[in-house]
Amino acid sequence: MNIILLGPPGAGKGTQARRLVEERKMVQLSTGDMLREAQGSGTEMGKRVAEVMARGELVTDEIVIGLIEEKLTTVEAAGFIFDGFPRTLGQADALGALLDKHGMTLDAVIELQVNDEVLVGRIVGRAEEARKAGQPVRADDNEESLKVRLMEYYKKTSPLTGYYYAKGALRGVDGLGQIDEVAAEIAGVLDA
Ligand code: AMP
Repeated sequence: MNIILLGPPGAGKGTQARRLVEERKMVQLSTGDMLREAQGSGTEMGKRVAEVMARGELVTDEIVIGLIEEKLTTVEAAGFIFDGFPRTLGQADALGALLDKHGMTLDAVIELQVNDEVLVGRIVGRAEEARKAGQPVRADDNEESLKVRLMEYYKKTSPLTGYYYAKGALRGVDGLGQIDEVAAEIAGVLDA
């Protein structure tokens, strides 16, 4: 079973993806994590994307599609969770083509529905928690980048809800509840 977790920054995609990994032995494919890893490794690509990411803008489709294709061709999994990918209509088309090419299907697109004030609060909270715990704070977890990330989401990613609705794949889940409640709702969708 392959699924997409869709939703704005701070909606809880990463948190829910990690639960699905634990509970269902699925594999999480987070392009954000892959890009942060590339930055840490000091590769040419990592350097190129660092500034774009810190500003809160999207990196090019070509880069993230390449990262995803590499995983799909090298990682064996009972199911993939696409977390933070696709983020544009071009990426969504490319994912569809890649899945076809590898004989795989897309089984559900789960949209974590939240409201904007909660998002801002969560992201500011995430940065504060990291700071308190002496952990590195994401370069894009600040108010200015967050505004850009939200705008990128509404301009480029939110059309994907219509795209997947039209394909009959979209399932909305209330992302405002406690982590366990959201997880239970997702489980309900996946087991239906
Ligand atoms: P995330 O960890 O999903 O919040 O992603 C962090 C940042 O990585 C985003 O703000 C973008 O700059 C970049 N990024 C992650 N995934 C994508 C994607 N699918 N397309 C373009 N940029 C992405």
